[in-house]
Amino acid sequence: MSPISAGLAERCPACGQGRVFRAYLKFKPACEACGQDFTKADTADGPAFFVGFLVLIFFAPFGFIIPMADAPIWLKILLMLVLVIVTAIVSLILLPKAKSLLMALQISNRAEEARFEDRK
Ligand SMILES: [Zn+2]
Repeated sequence: MSPISAGLAERCPACGQGRVFRAYLKFKPACEACGQDFTKADTADGPAFFVGFLVLIFFAPFGFIIPMADAPIWLKILLMLVLVIVTAIVSLILLPKAKSLLMALQISNRAEEARFEDRK
């Protein structure tokens, strides 16, 4: 299973079986199927950045189009409320997928902090 499909399915990148989350955005300490350690993965604010960027590329233009539209003010307010709610819901749906995807890519690429090697 590729790390991308495992990440999008919120499954363990090592075995593709175990689920990676124990709560909405909380990783389990390890895979329950194969024992892969999830504590080394640190996605930090990466998922929020990518989801925010992607979602706003699609929804931000409506924030300009709706106020300029030739429509009654109550309709504009209603549409802006719907826009805000839809943007928030789409972001909340995409966040776990993005976090799981970044964690799967970190584990499969063995990404970790840079450190000095021992010279002997
Ligand atoms: Zn696993």
